[in-house]
Amino acid sequence: MKKFLAIAAIAIHIPIIFYFWQIDSWQLLTSGQTNLTLIALARIFGLLAVYFVLSQLIFIGRVKWLEKQFGLDKLSIWHHFNGFFALLFILAHPFLLIIAYGGLNNLGFFSQIMDFIRHYPDVWQAVIAVLIFVTIVTLSVSFIRKHLKYEKWYFLHLLTYVAILMAFGHQLKLGGDFHNNLFVFYWYALYFLAFGQLIWYRFLTPLYNFYRHHFFLDHVVEENAGALSCYIKGRNLSEFKVVPGQFMIVRFLNKQLWWQQHPFSISGYQAGEYIRLTIKPLGDFTSTLKDNVKVGDKILLDGPHGVFILKRAVKNKLLFIAGGVGITPIRSILEEALLAGREATLLYGNRNEQEIIFKDELDELKKQHQFGLHYILSEKISSVFEHGNIDKEKISRLVPDLKEREVYLCGPVPMMKAIRRQLTELGLPKKLIHFEKFSLG
Ligand SMILES: Cc1cc2nc3c(=O)[nH]c(=O)nc-3n(C[C@H](O)[C@H](O)[C@H](O)COP(=O)(O)OP(=O)(O)OC[C@H]3O[C@@H](n4cnc5c(N)ncnc54)[C@H](O)[C@@H]3O)c2cc1C
Repeated sequence: MKKFLAIAAIAIHIPIIFYFWQIDSWQLLTSGQTNLTLIALARIFGLLAVYFVLSQLIFIGRVKWLEKQFGLDKLSIWHHFNGFFALLFILAHPFLLIIAYGGLNNLGFFSQIMDFIRHYPDVWQAVIAVLIFVTIVTLSVSFIRKHLKYEKWYFLHLLTYVAILMAFGHQLKLGGDFHNNLFVFYWYALYFLAFGQLIWYRFLTPLYNFYRHHFFLDHVVEENAGALSCYIKGRNLSEFKVVPGQFMIVRFLNKQLWWQQHPFSISGYQAGEYIRLTIKPLGDFTSTLKDNVKVGDKILLDGPHGVFILKRAVKNKLLFIAGGVGITPIRSILEEALLAGREATLLYGNRNEQEIIFKDELDELKKQHQFGLHYILSEKISSVFEHGNIDKEKISRLVPDLKEREVYLCGPVPMMKAIRRQLTELGLPKKLIHFEKFSLG
């Protein structure tokens, strides 16, 4: 029901926009004259383009009421695909207007473009905005994005805000549907709602939390596989509500690192005491973290985010499956589950024994709670550990009561894909498989 309401709160604007559009444009649409019909269509495409672009801000704005229902990873996927629809409308709007006005003015395609730019207010800004949108959506196509460094892609993406502002002027000055004052008011409200929520959740909330809690790096512990556990403390930490399994978007406020932020899962949590994030060296930021952070560094925390949490499980019996650093959220959920008396089994895949993060902690947890703990190593054959990848055979053998369980899965994307497929082949419904991807979008 809450999910439905959240979607309704966004979708409701489509009929409202259509309602205001038809007041002035229905006559044009049904006039029987091609150019006027095209103008009416161009107008609705323009309005929808703005609606889709503003929805982009909501999907990526870490908006709490939406994120709580769907999780940031799903919202990032929506953001990705919504961007393509936005671009379709963004392109269709000027294209139809150029054809229609070109027809009415007896001008060719390019002459009509020049006529718009020379004689209509704020159109040149809108043209630049379109070029920015086209560039950004093109850069977001998977095979192009793969070749771009994340930071480059991210900073170019920020130009979207410039484009949105540049496109605004021509809407109210030229838009044929804005004769109605109520519509003008509604249009401003729409922008206010989108930007207001983005600014509130994405920028002001982390700053406010920093002001309240003064987060800082208390100490670091080196784990296996070169991973670094960062223990974060702060003032009145018991008032900062965090749920095991969630993640934080972290910015270390020192000279080297302040300009970038990265998401990391909560691998350990003691209410009121500390939050632990465990970071494995994989790229530029994570590989140099050890040299760039020092105890006492202030930290800006955006979050907690995510719905990879114990509360989602309806069944008492749980199966946790982790691969490599994917153990981080599972480590904290597992402990919460065991303390709550839930029955759990963990299958934990790694290349070799040296790569098993939290091995001592997990062994200790097993002593205290007697849960099923199976290390599965792909590289080394040993009599102590299972050998190979986590697959159907191992799951059915090590977890014969799979169908009575609900699964939490986190690891490299190819591994997660393969295991999700195999779990469904073993008869587990998809809705009982919860997973966390270590990439947004
Ligand atoms: C929800 C979530 C939870 C995560 N939890 C952990 C964890 O507990 N421990 C851990 O070691 N890693 C975790 N990660 C992965 C971690 O965020 C990336 O490994 C890290 O950001 C890579 O940065 P880099 O500069 O070192 O590597 P790069 O080589 O620059 O990036 C590698 C990949 O990481 C992703 N990435 C890079 N920077 C960012 C960013 N600022 N925001 C989002 N994605 C980015 C991109 O997909 C990129 O292709 C998590 C990721 C997500 C999305």
